[in-house]
Amino acid sequence: MKKHFACLLVSVLLLGVFTPLEAVENNSGIKAAVSKNIKKKNPVIDFNYDFEAVDKIKYKNKLAADKAEYKKITKGYSAENKKLYLITEKILRANKLNDRSWRIVIKNNAENVNAYATAANLVVIISALYDSLYYNDDALAFVISHEIAHFLYNHHQKTLEDYRKYRYYKDGKEYMLFPYYKNERKREKEADTEALTIMTRAGYDPYKALDAMEFFDLLPELYNSYSSHPKIEDRITNINTEISYLDVNYLNNQGKYNIYNSEVLDLKKSTDKKTLVLTDKSKGQKSKYTPEPPDEKLVRKAYFHYKNNDFKNAANLFEKAYKFNKKNYLPPLFLSYINEYEFNLNKNKRNLKAARKWIKRALKYNSEDINVKKQYNDIEKIYSELKPAKKRAKNDIDK
Ligand SMILES: [Zn+2]
Repeated sequence: MKKHFACLLVSVLLLGVFTPLEAVENNSGIKAAVSKNIKKKNPVIDFNYDFEAVDKIKYKNKLAADKAEYKKITKGYSAENKKLYLITEKILRANKLNDRSWRIVIKNNAENVNAYATAANLVVIISALYDSLYYNDDALAFVISHEIAHFLYNHHQKTLEDYRKYRYYKDGKEYMLFPYYKNERKREKEADTEALTIMTRAGYDPYKALDAMEFFDLLPELYNSYSSHPKIEDRITNINTEISYLDVNYLNNQGKYNIYNSEVLDLKKSTDKKTLVLTDKSKGQKSKYTPEPPDEKLVRKAYFHYKNNDFKNAANLFEKAYKFNKKNYLPPLFLSYINEYEFNLNKNKRNLKAARKWIKRALKYNSEDINVKKQYNDIEKIYSELKPAKKRAKNDIDK
């Protein structure tokens, strides 16, 4: 999704019709418990999905035609290379990564199980890792997607810069300062997270990423020898959390759309006779993949919690998103909703004040939005109704 917040549309649909809370009084004059059935305000955030659903029959026919192409293209290649090509090809096309050639190779090294990517779009998979995951296409797709993600985030360049910045020498030996490892671990997690999106878009099961992790977990020395990698437990926790945020249906459909609208990638061997080179030879404009901007990601996650009535996490993430990009009106709008909801439950004026503060901020950046206007009016109404009541009460006491 290349769009930024300015393009995000808040649909005018107010799905959950808001019921203002009234202090319910029964005949005895005792206030009844606050109804738990207050509906939250729920405008739908349309993340401006840039694809249309592909017709099922048309898609099936396209896949059949592609399959015939694959047969021709992979003729004479080993089963290992065929598999590697087919998985990579699908990933590249589903994610619009066919704007450049990619190289991928299985390197013989039974001792080392890591996969790594080097500069210039070369993905290297060590044979021990490839062999161990050979019957698990989804886990292999995760490994490949992870390496591709490093390119998309320009991690190699950043690592090199960190290396120059944080290395030092003592007694003739080279050492790295702590930030080097910290940044590297952060990048590993970032690549894992993006890989889940990439593989899901290509139709693979993101939960199978855990199979790859399980395999790493069998190797107790890995964390010590590669301290730039986060602990496997941390990676597993991160993967599980990130999977819960994935919109699998949306990603699948987007991937299908991208595959349907692209052509089979050509396959040839590099001059070393081992490395596979995948190239899009079709003509026409090729678009470039850009990872979801961090602020957009925060809003998407916050909205996910909001939809699930998990207001604590939603508020936390909306606040983070607001700090990241103060010109986006969506986080303050939803923070106003959340505080209003809380106010209706507990009648705590602190929440009403916060609801007012946030909607004023939203209004500052989008005074035209129908939801913003409505929320502003709603909050002002509650606020003004509350004030005279307070004054009246005060006057009573004065008497
Ligand atoms: Zn990595």
